[in-house]
Amino acid sequence: MQVPLMSPKRETELPGEKTHDPDEGFDLDGMLGSLAKWLRILGFDARFPCKKVAQDRYFVTTNRKLKNPQVIKVRNASPIEQLKQILDQTGIVPNSNLFLSRCLSCNVPVREIAKHRIKGRVPDSVFSRNSIFHECPSCGKLYWEGTHASRIKRRLEESGVLAKT
Ligand SMILES: [Zn+2]
Repeated sequence: MQVPLMSPKRETELPGEKTHDPDEGFDLDGMLGSLAKWLRILGFDARFPCKKVAQDRYFVTTNRKLKNPQVIKVRNASPIEQLKQILDQTGIVPNSNLFLSRCLSCNVPVREIAKHRIKGRVPDSVFSRNSIFHECPSCGKLYWEGTHASRIKRRLEESGVLAKT
């Protein structure tokens, strides 16, 4: 039976609900690379691949045999469905302000970079159309809220993961 995991919109915190703490940590097993990326898109600290349960962190796995209060066993489903399952089980509500606040490759928080410093590092059309850019301090990858980011955000809103803005 398919159970709706999240109401599409939550303006206020309900009892038992936690708002997204940017330091909330998830460790994911080797099967869950796509899910790790989606968690990072939402700004969560998501380490991948991980082999064992670490202190003060959730361990997300497809292994049905693991038993530990920190373990979240995800179903064999699409990464978005798995994401919804995690949020439902932990009661954590993603913060839309943390959308794309973390490097998708390195899992470290990105920082804003002055526009003049990225001239020549992005296509001219991207440079002229955007004013705010972020850079990963670890790998140097640049992030901006272009059409691709908007599409991802819309998908998260439509699936009920992020509240509509
Ligand atoms: Zn990076």
